[in-house]
This record gives sequence, structure tokens and C-alpha cells, in this order.
Amino acid sequence: MLDRSETINESPCELVLTSPPVREDSDASGLGKIARGATRVRVDDKAMINCRADVNQLLPLKYRWAWEKYLSGCNNHWMPTEISMQADIGLWKSSDGLTAGERLVIKRNLGFFAASESLVANNIVLAIYRHLTNPECRQYLLRQAFEEAVHTHTFQYIVESLGLDEGELFNMYREVPSITEKAAWAIQYTQNLSDPSFTTGSVAANRAFLRDLIAFYVVFEGIWFYTGFVQILSMGRRNKMIGIAEQYQYILRDESIHLNFGIDVINQIKIENPRLWNDTFQQEVRGMLQKAAELEAAYGHDTMPNGFLGLSAGLCEQYMHFIANRRCLQLGLEQVFPSCDNPFPWMSEAMDLRKEKNFFETRVTEYQNGGSLAWD
Ligand code: FE
Ligand code: MN
Repeated sequence: MLDRSETINESPCELVLTSPPVREDSDASGLGKIARGATRVRVDDKAMINCRADVNQLLPLKYRWAWEKYLSGCNNHWMPTEISMQADIGLWKSSDGLTAGERLVIKRNLGFFAASESLVANNIVLAIYRHLTNPECRQYLLRQAFEEAVHTHTFQYIVESLGLDEGELFNMYREVPSITEKAAWAIQYTQNLSDPSFTTGSVAANRAFLRDLIAFYVVFEGIWFYTGFVQILSMGRRNKMIGIAEQYQYILRDESIHLNFGIDVINQIKIENPRLWNDTFQQEVRGMLQKAAELEAAYGHDTMPNGFLGLSAGLCEQYMHFIANRRCLQLGLEQVFPSCDNPFPWMSEAMDLRKEKNFFETRVTEYQNGGSLAWD
């Protein structure tokens, strides 16, 4: 059970910040009774968490950044089956096209992502959605949940195209210890929230919610996924597995918005509930990022025992330190590792699909229907 005793110590001012206007006529879930004849929702009634203004009223918008991310997500629509796998199939089936080390990286990487996309989707639908009491944020969560389904579909499509052992790939998160460790670390935060009696409102419960957001948006999607992208995209740069590499580029574009949405949500909750983000908690979050980095280093050594051209466990670890420091900056935290250079500067090009629309030269059309994207 979470310790909720801290609530008692809230100062009156912070009470206002943590508990926006409570309206007895509505509920935070959206599943309560319809409040007939209730007053209309004003923009100031809206809040990220613990809000009891009617969550079914998208307008008036309070958090334009959330709505804009929803629009960007829609503009980036893609499906994995639109990308040809012919070159990948030829390479995968040839006896001398890939080294044993490259095959291991590809399989472990696919295995990690195949289950992780589902873990992220479960967390959105079964944990976050219920407690994020703002309709424009929920609108984005619905889009993100669909994108996670598209990503899971991508792994189904790859397994089928290459004729991979589906049991091996989709069970890797339970059978390969360095992948299990990462999944188990993240899932403990979801489990906290999935307790049916869990509700936000107290400082302890609000912090449990923030921990979940940090574990999934910042660590899972914002750090671990990025080293996964590096592995496959660096192969694409060497003209290997270019179909998968292109799919990863689209996934990366989606994930970059997921990450930035998560960062905005966390920072907005901090603004509205300043007491949550005290020194002790900041140090705890830094500890989470450090632990995540250790788990990733173990996974890197497991996946790339010998490394190959341009990629090694050591370089991936350096990249992860670079990325973790960046995430600290985005959360307003002191960095967790000594400053280091980005060992993969080409990743920033890979992230910009609009400029490098034909990055792997597998497509002739620009795959974006308008809107502008800000890359992290
Ligand atoms: Fe995803
Ligand atoms: Mn995602």
C-alpha cells in the first residue's frame, strides 16, 4: 500500500495546486453518472491529474501542446505492410550476407521491441489513461495506443516476411535474461497503478503516477528504444536489412512524439503540483535513470558481445549516457553521467524523415502529409 499520510502535510496553497476545483457533479474517470444541468466546463477547471471537470469535454482546449501532438501523430500515419521486405528476405536467406554477430543483434533487437510495444500499450490503456484527467491528453493517448498497435504489427510483419521463429521472438522478453530484466524493471511501475483501489490524489499516489510516466515515457521509450534504433539504423546505413531499417525510421518518428508528449505531461504535472518534485524525489528519479542505464549496458553486452562495423556495446553505452543526460535536461534534472559526445551524430539525420525522405532509398515518395515536426 502506498503511504498517503503525507497529504495531511499539504499547505493550503499546495492543496489548491494538487487538487483543482472539485466538482461533485462529475468524476475523474469519465465513467460516472451524467451530471444533468451541471455548469459548463471552463478552461481553468481543467488539470492534468485529480481533475473533476467533465473529462468528456475536449473543448475548450487548455493544453494546446497535447492537441498538436495528436495532429502530428495523425499526419505521420503509416503501415508496415507498405514497405517492401524483398531485399531483407534475400539478405536474411543468403548464407554469407550477414555475420553471426549481425544476426544475433537483429534477433535480440526484434525480440526486445516485439514485446516492449505491447508493454507500452498496456501501460497506456490500463494504467495511464485512467489517471490522466484531461481530455486533450486522453485524445493523444488514444492515438498513441493505435501507433503502438501499428508497431506491434510491424514485428508480426517482419517475423512473417523473414520466416523467423515467432515463438523465439515473442518469448524473448521472458527467456533472455537481459531483456527480462528491463521488462521486469518497467512493469513494476505499471503494477503499482493497476491495483483497482489505486487512485491519485495524495502526494504518495501522485508520485507513484509520475514514476510510471518516467519509467515508460522517459526510460522505456526515451532511452532504451533509442539504443535499439541505433542498432538497426546503423545496419541500414551499411545497406543491410533496409526494409526493417525503414520501418524503424517510421517507428522512431512516432516514438519521438511519444517521448516529447511524456516529457510535456510530466513537466506540466510538476508545474501544477510543485510539491511532488522535491529534492528527494529528484534524486530518486536520477537513480531510476542510472539503474536503467545499467540494465541497458548488460543488454548491450549480451546483444553485441563482439560488436561489428561502427557499432559496439561500448559505443551504445556511451550513446545511452548521452541520451540519459539529455532526458535529465528535459526534465530539469542535473545530469546523471559525465558529459560525453554523441557517438552517433548521424542519428539526428535519421530522425528527420522530411529532410532525408529517401534515407535508405527504398521509397520514392515523401511519407508525411503536412504539419511540422519538432525533433528531440
Ligand atoms: Fe511504439
Ligand atoms: Mn511508443
